[in-house]
Amino acid sequence: MEFELRIVVEKVAISTQEVVERNTLKTYDIEAPQSILELGLRHAEQISLLSKVQNSILAEQCKLIRKDHKTCPNCGGKLGRNGTTKSKFHAVFSDHQLTIQKHRCQNPDCRWQQSSTTNAVFGSNIHPDLAKLQCEQGANFSYRQAQENLEKINTCHRSINNHTQISRLSAQVGEMLCQQNLMTPQSEECAEPVESIILQVDGGHIPIKEKQKRSFEALFAVAYRPENLQPIDNNHRTIVDKSCAISAREDNLETMKTYVLNTALKQGLNSNTIVTALADGAQNCWSVIQALQPHCKHIEAILDWFHIGKKFQPLLNSLAENERESLENAKWKLWHGQATEALEKLTILRNQIKDQKQKSKLKALQDYLQGNQKYLINYEQRQQSNQTFTSQVAESHIDSVINARHKRDGKMQWSREGAHNVLQIRAAMVSQEWQNNWHKAVLPALGVVA
Ligand SMILES: [Zn+2]
Repeated sequence: MEFELRIVVEKVAISTQEVVERNTLKTYDIEAPQSILELGLRHAEQISLLSKVQNSILAEQCKLIRKDHKTCPNCGGKLGRNGTTKSKFHAVFSDHQLTIQKHRCQNPDCRWQQSSTTNAVFGSNIHPDLAKLQCEQGANFSYRQAQENLEKINTCHRSINNHTQISRLSAQVGEMLCQQNLMTPQSEECAEPVESIILQVDGGHIPIKEKQKRSFEALFAVAYRPENLQPIDNNHRTIVDKSCAISAREDNLETMKTYVLNTALKQGLNSNTIVTALADGAQNCWSVIQALQPHCKHIEAILDWFHIGKKFQPLLNSLAENERESLENAKWKLWHGQATEALEKLTILRNQIKDQKQKSKLKALQDYLQGNQKYLINYEQRQQSNQTFTSQVAESHIDSVINARHKRDGKMQWSREGAHNVLQIRAAMVSQEWQNNWHKAVLPALGVVA
């Protein structure tokens, strides 16, 4: 071997370019790789090298922390040095120990002492980038799964990535978002005033493991401008810019109504806006929608064709050939805006059917349509004129938000408020607001000192 490779950190005087300190962090052999495994550095080694580089930077930064602290905040007396404190700092991939200068007041009557831990100086000992990662994992997976995922990314166990820490932080950040979502958005958070907004509201159930308790309902709303519903290909569409709200609180919809108004404002809602609202037909969804009335020009409330289809489908699948045809026929009437005829057809069909189970399912469908009759429109006509009538975009439904977290993992036992908080992180992620605004919730939740 003729050569080796040294990874060196140099501290250099900027004016003279003189190297005042030089440290070899690591020496690597230069050898022909026997396989692709030996190409470059392996996963754990990359993190280890980065950790050493971080140590060099942190050592220099530590020397400067509170360097200009000269006067006592208590009495105004002179401060003297009083040793150093060692404390922990958790970066994204590695844990470190900081050595921070401590001061003490020289005035014998005061003797004020400074606390010099990472927490005391910065408010937190976790780098916000790590906290962000923990929240994202905590919002998308069970906390134990999140811990496992972070261990894989990190190649080792770190106590800072423990599931209890992820759980605590996710709850704190969720709570912060939950409060922020109640506040009227600043004008810079809002789009230009628009003429038209589409609002979809639907509900879903969050299962809980405890047998004696029932699952609880959450409401989900997505607001977007019509032009932002764009085709990906012939069969799929996506909403490129949207604002989402979700609430699992049991408070007579108060939280949800406020959240929905704020998401609509972010999309450009004003007194001249026509809101086209699609809902799954549940009364609480209509109530949330109607609460927007004082803030817009007009609400066009429509029973979502997507949900109508979902109600018809299981029955269509279970009926015999000729009965299915009658049901198809009723659906066709509905599609063409002939709700009364459709309901009549359902009554006739109900009288024909012998099977009690199917009979009651049909009754449920009929009740559903009857209860929402004033929200039934001519769907065919709307499709012809290229107007909204269905929420057929997967990402715009509550299931896509809840499934990603609460349904997949049956092991967690959720309190209603706990689920509500963590779902706020999910909603921010689905809204594409998280990437730009995470620090607004994460920094205060961590207690970061500016
Ligand atoms: Zn003092």
